[in-house]
Amino acid sequence: MIVSNINEIRNITKAWNLEGLKIGYVPTMGYLHDGHEALIKQARKNNDKVIVSIFVNPTQFGVNEDLSSYPRDLDSDEALCDKNNVELIFVPDEKEMYPSNYKTYADVNDLSSNLCGLSREGHFKGVCTVLTKFFNIINPTNVYFGKKDIQQFFVVKRLIEDFNFDININLVNTIREEDGLAMSSRNKYLTKAERLNSINLYKSLIKARDFINEKRLNKEIIKSNEVIELMKNYLDSSIDKNIESKLDYLKIVDTNEIKDITEINKDCIIAIANKFGRARLIDNLVYRYDKGEFMI
Ligand code: AMP
Repeated sequence: MIVSNINEIRNITKAWNLEGLKIGYVPTMGYLHDGHEALIKQARKNNDKVIVSIFVNPTQFGVNEDLSSYPRDLDSDEALCDKNNVELIFVPDEKEMYPSNYKTYADVNDLSSNLCGLSREGHFKGVCTVLTKFFNIINPTNVYFGKKDIQQFFVVKRLIEDFNFDININLVNTIREEDGLAMSSRNKYLTKAERLNSINLYKSLIKARDFINEKRLNKEIIKSNEVIELMKNYLDSSIDKNIESKLDYLKIVDTNEIKDITEINKDCIIAIANKFGRARLIDNLVYRYDKGEFMI
Protein backbone atom coordinates (compact mmCIF):
# COMPACT_ATOMS: atom_id res chain seq x y z
CA MET A 1 0.00 0.00 0.00
CA ILE A 2 1.27 3.45 -0.90
CA VAL A 3 0.70 6.21 1.64
CA SER A 4 1.71 9.81 1.11
CA ASN A 5 0.04 11.66 3.98
CA ILE A 6 2.09 12.07 7.16
CA ASN A 7 -0.83 11.70 9.59
CA GLU A 8 -2.05 8.62 7.82
CA ILE A 9 1.28 6.83 8.11
CA ARG A 10 1.69 8.04 11.70
CA ASN A 11 -1.66 6.52 12.67
CA ILE A 12 -0.77 3.18 11.14
CA THR A 13 2.66 2.98 12.77
CA LYS A 14 1.28 4.15 16.13
CA ALA A 15 -1.15 1.23 16.08
CA TRP A 16 1.70 -1.16 15.23
CA ASN A 17 3.81 0.29 18.06
CA LEU A 18 0.89 -0.24 20.48
CA GLU A 19 0.60 -3.87 19.39
CA GLY A 20 4.31 -4.27 20.14
CA LEU A 21 5.14 -5.09 16.53
CA LYS A 22 8.66 -4.61 15.23
CA ILE A 23 8.87 -2.13 12.39
CA GLY A 24 11.74 -2.37 9.89
CA TYR A 25 12.33 0.80 7.91
CA VAL A 26 14.28 1.25 4.66
CA PRO A 27 14.75 4.88 3.54
CA THR A 28 15.38 5.26 -0.21
CA MET A 29 15.18 7.74 -3.06
CA GLY A 30 13.46 5.17 -5.26
CA TYR A 31 14.41 3.72 -8.65
CA LEU A 32 14.92 0.57 -6.64
CA HIS A 33 17.44 -2.11 -7.61
CA ASP A 34 18.93 -5.26 -6.08
CA GLY A 35 20.92 -3.15 -3.59
CA HIS A 36 17.74 -1.68 -2.14
CA GLU A 37 16.14 -5.12 -2.29
CA ALA A 38 18.91 -6.55 -0.08
CA LEU A 39 18.00 -3.96 2.57
CA ILE A 40 14.31 -4.76 2.24
CA LYS A 41 14.96 -8.51 2.54
CA GLN A 42 17.00 -7.95 5.69
CA ALA A 43 14.19 -5.80 7.12
CA ARG A 44 11.64 -8.47 6.18
CA LYS A 45 13.64 -11.15 7.96
CA ASN A 46 13.92 -9.33 11.30
CA ASN A 47 10.66 -7.39 11.68
CA ASP A 48 6.88 -7.87 11.75
CA LYS A 49 6.21 -4.92 9.44
CA VAL A 50 8.33 -3.33 6.74
CA ILE A 51 8.14 0.25 5.53
CA VAL A 52 10.04 1.62 2.54
CA SER A 53 10.11 5.37 1.98
CA ILE A 54 10.66 6.77 -1.48
CA PHE A 55 11.60 10.42 -1.46
CA VAL A 56 14.05 12.34 -3.61
CA ASN A 57 14.92 14.69 -0.80
CA PRO A 58 15.63 18.19 -2.14
CA THR A 59 17.57 19.36 0.93
CA GLN A 60 20.37 16.86 0.33
CA PHE A 61 21.08 18.00 -3.25
CA GLY A 62 23.40 20.88 -4.05
CA VAL A 63 22.37 23.59 -6.52
CA ASN A 64 24.22 22.10 -9.48
CA GLU A 65 23.33 18.51 -8.74
CA ASP A 66 20.89 16.08 -10.36
CA LEU A 67 17.74 16.69 -8.27
CA SER A 68 15.45 17.32 -11.24
CA SER A 69 16.89 14.54 -13.42
CA TYR A 70 17.17 11.91 -10.66
CA PRO A 71 15.62 8.72 -12.11
CA ARG A 72 12.11 7.84 -10.93
CA ASP A 73 9.82 4.85 -11.60
CA LEU A 74 7.17 4.40 -8.94
CA ASP A 75 5.41 1.50 -10.73
CA SER A 76 8.51 -0.64 -10.84
CA ASP A 77 9.40 0.37 -7.23
CA GLU A 78 5.95 -0.73 -6.11
CA ALA A 79 6.36 -4.06 -7.90
CA LEU A 80 9.68 -4.70 -6.15
CA CYS A 81 8.13 -3.84 -2.77
CA ASP A 82 5.10 -6.05 -3.44
CA LYS A 83 7.35 -8.94 -4.39
CA ASN A 84 9.00 -8.61 -0.97
CA ASN A 85 5.70 -8.22 0.93
CA VAL A 86 6.45 -4.70 2.09
CA GLU A 87 3.43 -3.51 4.11
CA LEU A 88 3.79 0.20 3.45
CA ILE A 89 5.46 2.40 0.87
CA PHE A 90 5.71 5.94 2.14
CA VAL A 91 5.92 8.46 -0.69
CA PRO A 92 5.62 11.80 1.05
CA ASP A 93 4.57 14.98 -0.61
CA GLU A 94 7.43 17.47 -0.87
CA LYS A 95 5.24 20.39 0.26
CA GLU A 96 4.07 18.51 3.33
CA MET A 97 7.66 17.57 4.23
CA TYR A 98 8.98 21.08 3.64
CA PRO A 99 6.24 23.70 3.80
CA SER A 100 7.24 27.21 2.68
CA ASN A 101 7.95 28.34 6.27
CA TYR A 102 10.24 25.37 7.00
CA LYS A 103 13.08 26.29 9.40
CA THR A 104 14.61 23.36 11.30
CA TYR A 105 17.65 21.28 10.35
CA ALA A 106 19.68 18.49 11.95
CA ASP A 107 23.40 18.30 11.40
CA VAL A 108 26.15 15.95 12.60
CA ASN A 109 29.37 17.94 12.90
CA ASP A 110 32.81 16.73 11.80
CA LEU A 111 31.76 13.29 10.52
CA SER A 112 29.92 15.11 7.76
CA SER A 113 32.76 17.37 6.71
CA ASN A 114 35.06 14.90 4.95
CA LEU A 115 34.56 12.73 1.81
CA CYS A 116 31.09 13.32 0.28
CA GLY A 117 30.51 16.14 2.78
CA LEU A 118 33.53 17.98 1.35
CA SER A 119 32.45 17.78 -2.26
CA ARG A 120 28.69 17.99 -1.58
CA GLU A 121 28.35 20.87 0.87
CA GLY A 122 25.23 20.58 3.02
CA HIS A 123 24.48 17.07 1.74
CA PHE A 124 24.51 15.35 5.12
CA LYS A 125 22.60 18.17 6.76
CA GLY A 126 19.81 17.38 4.29
CA VAL A 127 20.13 13.65 4.91
CA CYS A 128 20.08 14.03 8.70
CA THR A 129 17.14 16.43 8.56
CA VAL A 130 14.95 14.23 6.42
CA LEU A 131 15.82 11.13 8.43
CA THR A 132 15.05 12.89 11.71
CA LYS A 133 11.64 13.69 10.26
CA PHE A 134 11.13 10.13 9.01
CA PHE A 135 12.24 8.63 12.34
CA ASN A 136 9.75 10.84 14.20
CA ILE A 137 6.93 10.06 11.78
CA ILE A 138 7.51 6.30 11.55
CA ASN A 139 9.07 5.44 14.92
CA PRO A 140 10.73 2.29 13.53
CA THR A 141 12.42 -0.45 15.57
CA ASN A 142 15.14 -1.07 12.99
CA VAL A 143 16.47 1.03 10.16
CA TYR A 144 18.60 -0.30 7.29
CA PHE A 145 21.42 1.34 5.34
CA GLY A 146 23.74 0.09 2.62
CA LYS A 147 27.51 -0.09 2.95
CA LYS A 148 27.82 1.56 -0.45
CA ASP A 149 27.06 4.86 1.29
CA ILE A 150 29.32 4.11 4.22
CA GLN A 151 29.77 7.69 5.41
CA GLN A 152 25.99 8.03 5.53
CA PHE A 153 25.84 4.97 7.79
CA PHE A 154 28.34 6.40 10.29
CA VAL A 155 26.76 9.86 10.21
CA VAL A 156 23.27 8.46 10.81
CA LYS A 157 24.56 6.12 13.52
CA ARG A 158 25.85 9.21 15.31
CA LEU A 159 22.59 11.10 14.71
CA ILE A 160 20.66 8.23 16.31
CA GLU A 161 23.01 8.11 19.32
CA ASP A 162 23.24 11.87 19.86
CA PHE A 163 19.51 12.52 19.45
CA ASN A 164 18.58 9.45 21.54
CA PHE A 165 16.41 7.85 18.92
CA ASP A 166 15.30 4.43 20.15
CA ILE A 167 16.20 2.79 16.84
CA ASN A 168 18.66 0.03 15.92
CA ILE A 169 20.74 0.85 12.88
CA ASN A 170 21.72 -2.01 10.56
CA LEU A 171 24.37 -2.12 7.84
CA VAL A 172 23.87 -4.24 4.70
CA ASN A 173 26.79 -5.08 2.42
CA THR A 174 27.14 -3.57 -1.05
CA ILE A 175 25.35 -5.41 -3.84
CA ARG A 176 27.31 -5.38 -7.09
CA GLU A 177 26.80 -6.09 -10.74
CA GLU A 178 28.50 -9.27 -11.97
CA ASP A 179 31.61 -7.35 -13.00
CA GLY A 180 31.91 -5.62 -9.61
CA LEU A 181 30.31 -2.22 -10.22
CA ALA A 182 28.32 -1.22 -7.13
CA MET A 183 24.63 -1.01 -8.01
CA SER A 184 23.30 2.52 -7.96
CA SER A 185 20.29 4.35 -9.34
CA ARG A 186 22.80 6.75 -10.90
CA ASN A 187 24.37 3.98 -13.02
CA LYS A 188 21.50 4.70 -15.41
CA TYR A 189 23.32 7.90 -16.46
CA LEU A 190 26.34 5.96 -17.75
CA THR A 191 27.01 5.66 -21.48
CA LYS A 192 28.21 2.28 -22.70
CA ALA A 193 31.87 3.37 -22.64
CA GLU A 194 31.51 4.95 -19.20
CA ARG A 195 29.82 1.81 -17.89
CA LEU A 196 32.75 -0.31 -19.13
CA ASN A 197 35.27 1.99 -17.47
CA SER A 198 33.34 2.39 -14.24
CA ILE A 199 34.31 -1.10 -13.00
CA ASN A 200 37.84 0.23 -12.45
CA LEU A 201 36.66 1.82 -9.21
CA TYR A 202 35.94 -1.64 -7.81
CA LYS A 203 39.11 -3.04 -9.31
CA SER A 204 41.21 -0.31 -7.68
CA LEU A 205 39.72 -1.27 -4.30
CA ILE A 206 40.67 -4.89 -4.93
CA LYS A 207 44.23 -3.74 -5.69
CA ALA A 208 44.26 -1.90 -2.36
CA ARG A 209 42.93 -4.96 -0.54
CA ASP A 210 45.63 -7.21 -1.99
CA PHE A 211 48.35 -4.67 -1.22
CA ILE A 212 47.21 -4.32 2.40
CA ASN A 213 46.99 -8.10 2.80
CA GLU A 214 50.51 -8.57 1.57
CA LYS A 215 51.94 -5.81 3.75
CA ARG A 216 50.15 -7.24 6.77
CA LEU A 217 51.45 -10.71 6.02
CA ASN A 218 54.98 -9.32 5.92
CA LYS A 219 54.31 -7.37 9.14
CA GLU A 220 55.18 -4.10 7.40
CA ILE A 221 53.86 -0.62 8.13
CA ILE A 222 50.99 0.21 5.76
CA LYS A 223 51.13 3.83 4.74
CA SER A 224 47.92 5.39 3.45
CA ASN A 225 49.71 7.42 0.78
CA GLU A 226 51.23 4.25 -0.68
CA VAL A 227 47.81 2.66 -0.99
CA ILE A 228 46.34 5.84 -2.47
CA GLU A 229 49.17 6.18 -4.97
CA LEU A 230 48.82 2.56 -6.04
CA MET A 231 45.09 3.07 -6.63
CA LYS A 232 45.54 6.38 -8.44
CA ASN A 233 48.18 4.86 -10.73
CA TYR A 234 45.89 1.96 -11.46
CA LEU A 235 42.98 4.27 -12.27
CA ASP A 236 45.20 6.50 -14.42
CA SER A 237 46.43 3.59 -16.48
CA SER A 238 43.15 1.71 -16.78
CA ILE A 239 40.51 4.40 -17.44
CA ASP A 240 40.19 5.20 -21.12
CA LYS A 241 41.46 8.74 -21.78
CA ASN A 242 38.70 9.30 -24.34
CA ILE A 243 35.89 9.23 -21.80
CA GLU A 244 34.95 12.05 -19.46
CA SER A 245 36.24 10.89 -16.09
CA LYS A 246 37.30 12.90 -13.05
CA LEU A 247 38.39 11.69 -9.64
CA ASP A 248 36.49 13.56 -6.94
CA TYR A 249 38.25 12.02 -3.93
CA LEU A 250 40.24 8.99 -2.96
CA LYS A 251 40.90 8.87 0.76
CA ILE A 252 41.56 6.60 3.69
CA VAL A 253 39.73 7.59 6.86
CA ASP A 254 39.11 6.04 10.26
CA THR A 255 35.62 4.75 11.03
CA ASN A 256 35.15 6.74 14.26
CA GLU A 257 35.75 10.30 13.17
CA ILE A 258 35.91 9.94 9.35
CA LYS A 259 39.28 11.74 9.46
CA ASP A 260 42.17 11.06 7.08
CA ILE A 261 44.71 8.66 8.53
CA THR A 262 48.35 8.41 7.47
CA GLU A 263 48.86 4.82 8.51
CA ILE A 264 46.53 1.84 8.32
CA ASN A 265 46.65 0.60 11.91
CA LYS A 266 42.96 0.74 12.91
CA ASP A 267 39.49 0.20 11.43
CA CYS A 268 39.29 2.31 8.33
CA ILE A 269 37.50 3.05 5.09
CA ILE A 270 39.10 3.41 1.69
CA ALA A 271 36.60 5.64 -0.06
CA ILE A 272 36.46 6.73 -3.65
CA ALA A 273 34.22 9.04 -5.66
CA ASN A 274 34.62 9.53 -9.38
CA LYS A 275 32.61 11.32 -12.01
CA PHE A 276 31.98 9.49 -15.27
CA GLY A 277 30.17 11.89 -17.57
CA ARG A 278 27.14 13.05 -15.57
CA ALA A 279 27.25 10.15 -13.12
CA ARG A 280 29.07 10.71 -9.85
CA LEU A 281 29.79 7.23 -8.51
CA ILE A 282 31.04 6.25 -5.07
CA ASP A 283 32.48 3.02 -3.73
CA ASN A 284 34.50 1.90 -0.72
CA LEU A 285 36.29 -0.82 1.11
CA VAL A 286 35.97 -1.20 4.87
CA TYR A 287 38.93 -2.75 6.65
CA ARG A 288 38.41 -4.21 10.12
CA TYR A 289 42.00 -3.96 11.30
CA ASP A 290 41.88 -6.22 14.38
CA LYS A 291 40.14 -9.02 12.54
CA GLY A 292 42.11 -8.41 9.33
CA GLU A 293 38.77 -8.56 7.51
CA PHE A 294 37.61 -6.62 4.48
CA MET A 295 34.05 -5.62 3.59
CA ILE A 296 33.72 -4.75 -0.06
P1 AMP B 1 19.37 5.64 -2.28
O1 AMP B 1 18.05 5.30 -2.87
O2 AMP B 1 20.48 5.69 -3.28
O3 AMP B 1 19.33 6.84 -1.36
O4 AMP B 1 19.75 4.41 -1.34
C1 AMP B 1 18.90 3.99 -0.33
C2 AMP B 1 19.63 2.97 0.53
O5 AMP B 1 20.01 1.86 -0.29
C3 AMP B 1 20.91 3.53 1.16
O6 AMP B 1 21.03 3.02 2.48
C4 AMP B 1 21.98 2.96 0.27
O7 AMP B 1 23.22 2.80 0.93
C5 AMP B 1 21.39 1.62 -0.10
N1 AMP B 1 22.00 1.12 -1.33
C6 AMP B 1 22.09 1.77 -2.52
N2 AMP B 1 22.79 1.03 -3.41
C7 AMP B 1 23.18 -0.09 -2.75
C8 AMP B 1 23.93 -1.24 -3.12
N3 AMP B 1 24.45 -1.39 -4.32
N4 AMP B 1 24.11 -2.20 -2.20
C9 AMP B 1 23.59 -2.08 -0.94
N5 AMP B 1 22.87 -1.02 -0.54
C10 AMP B 1 22.66 -0.04 -1.43
